Amino acid sequence: MKVAVLALQGAFIEHENMLNELGVETIELRQKKDCFEEFDALVLPGGESTVMGKLLRELDMFDILKDKIEKGMPVFGTCAGLLLLAGNIENDYRKHIGLMDITAERNAYGRQLGSFETVSKFKGIGEIPMRFIRAPYIKNIDDESVEVLSVVDDKIVAAREKNMLVTAFHPELTDCNEVHKYFIDNMCNI
Ligand code: GLN
Repeated sequence: MKVAVLALQGAFIEHENMLNELGVETIELRQKKDCFEEFDALVLPGGESTVMGKLLRELDMFDILKDKIEKGMPVFGTCAGLLLLAGNIENDYRKHIGLMDITAERNAYGRQLGSFETVSKFKGIGEIPMRFIRAPYIKNIDDESVEVLSVVDDKIVAAREKNMLVTAFHPELTDCNEVHKYFIDNMCNI
């Protein structure tokens, strides 16, 4: 079992550390040729969705990764990663990989609450620490195949659809690896 972590920008090392801690091997995707390595699942980290979307296109990695996800490769997107996967972004004219039937709102917590931490429930896990950094949230579920996994202050902050898992928060920036464990155990069939 090998998980590829998109390593163009943002908080990718923290994902690698957390996965390695769980005994999962990781590789970094930095350029097109890395996408042809063998791997079983993909992590799209937090950072800036506009920058990552642009780099994915410029480096010619976009279609290769989109195709893998479309064909069922398990993918876990955190924060900007959620925005890369969202089928719609309410307050952005851009759309990126766009395969998940959700409408997201970018930078949805305003300036005062730009960054915050809380402890809240995640379906199938229980209470976990959640760290939000200029986070989006899921404004709408656009298909009944999307399962809501966590709601904080009436806002959907985690969901799953088929092979795709997204969190608006950063589990990799906490000391709790339960969401990564959930991804590996429930979605990566090993
Ligand atoms: N605000 C960022 C965006 O719009 C996401 C922030 C994050 O990934 N921590 O892409």
